[in-house]
Amino acid sequence: MSIDPTRLEALLSSAADIALVSHFNPDGDAVGSVTAAYHYLKARGKRPRIILPSPYPESMAFLEPDDPRDRIVICEQDPETAHALVARADLIICLDLNRLSRTEYLENDILSARAPKVLVDHHLAAELDRFDLAISTTGVSSTCELLYWTLLALPDIAGDPARIGIRCAESIYVGMMTDTNNFSNSVFPSTFEMASKLIARGVDKDGLQEKVLSCYSVSRTRLLGHMVKDKMRLIPRHQAAYMLLSNREKERYHFKPGDSEGFVNLPLAIDSVQISALFTENADGGYIRVSLRSKSRINVNRLAVRFFFGGGHRNASGGRLYIPLEEVPAYFEKALDAYTDEEKFS
Ligand code: 5GP
Ligand code: MN
Repeated sequence: MSIDPTRLEALLSSAADIALVSHFNPDGDAVGSVTAAYHYLKARGKRPRIILPSPYPESMAFLEPDDPRDRIVICEQDPETAHALVARADLIICLDLNRLSRTEYLENDILSARAPKVLVDHHLAAELDRFDLAISTTGVSSTCELLYWTLLALPDIAGDPARIGIRCAESIYVGMMTDTNNFSNSVFPSTFEMASKLIARGVDKDGLQEKVLSCYSVSRTRLLGHMVKDKMRLIPRHQAAYMLLSNREKERYHFKPGDSEGFVNLPLAIDSVQISALFTENADGGYIRVSLRSKSRINVNRLAVRFFFGGGHRNASGGRLYIPLEEVPAYFEKALDAYTDEEKFS
C-alpha cells in the first residue's frame, strides 16, 4: 500500500494538542484506531486526547491511555470537556467514519473548530471535501489497517513495524480483528501481511482474542440464544432474516454496549439466507439502530443508504429508523420489495 505521508507529517509536526474522534456507538475499529493513534502520538511527544460521542464496549477498556488525565472523554457523559477538547485542538483527526454526522453531538464542534481536519477511514462514499487531508480507501480491512500503513509511511517509523509501540500495535490488531470478524470478512493480502508483522512485533494474538472476543457475561450469551431461537424471523422470498431487540429484552438480559456484537452475522450461517438484519431499540427510545449484513454477492450498503439513513460497506452496513419497533417488520419487507436487483447485485 503506498501512502504519501508528506502532508500528514507536516500537519503532525506543527500540532501539539490533537483531538482524536470517532463515531457514535464506537466499535472495535473505532476504539482501536483512536487508541492506536493516541499511543503513537503520545510517544511522539504530542498531547493527544480521545473524544467519543457515546460509550464503547467495556472489553476494550484495556486499550485506554494509562495516564488518568488522558482517559477517553465520552461526550454523552461529559459534554463540556468533549466540546472544549475539540475547540482547543490544533489538529483534529477523525477515524473510522465516512460522514461527520456520525460524530453526532461533535459534528458542529468539528465544523466550527479552527484546527485543520484529517480523515482516516475505509468506508464507502467518505465526505472527502470536508477535510483538509483525507486518507481514505475501501481497499483495506479496517481503519486500523489503514492507520498501520499510514504509520509505516511516516518518517519516524520508516517502514519498520518494530518502531510501532506495543500498545499502538495491540490497538491496531484489535480494530482489524473485530472489523473482519476475526479474519472472516474484508480481509485482503495486506491484512494478513500486517497481522503477520504485528505478531512478529510482539502482539499477543491469543491474549487479545480472549480479552475482546471471549469476554461476555452469562446473560449476554443467554440473550444470544433467545434472539436466535425465539426472535429470528425469515423472509424466504427475499432470502432474508431479521431479529428485533427491544428495550424490554435489553433490560431483562442486563444489556451492555457491545453485547449484541456479532448477533447480526448468525443468520448468514443458514444456507438460504443472503441478507441479515438486526433492529435494536435505543434505550432513549428516539430511534431504532439498524445493522445489515449480506453474503458476498448482495450489496447492503445501498439498502442502508436508501431505506435506513445510513451506509457503510458492501456486505456490512448500518443506519437508523425513526418508527416504533412493531412497525419495523412491515417496513423491512417493503424496503426489500422496493430494493431492485440492479441495486442489490451492484
Ligand atoms: P454495525 O452493524 O456493526 O453497527 O455497522 C456496520 C457498518 O455500517 C460499519 O462499518 C459502520 O461504520 C456502518 N454504519 C453503522 N451505522 C451507521 C450509520 O448510522 N450511518 C452510516 N453511514 N454508517 C453506519
Ligand atoms: Mn471500521
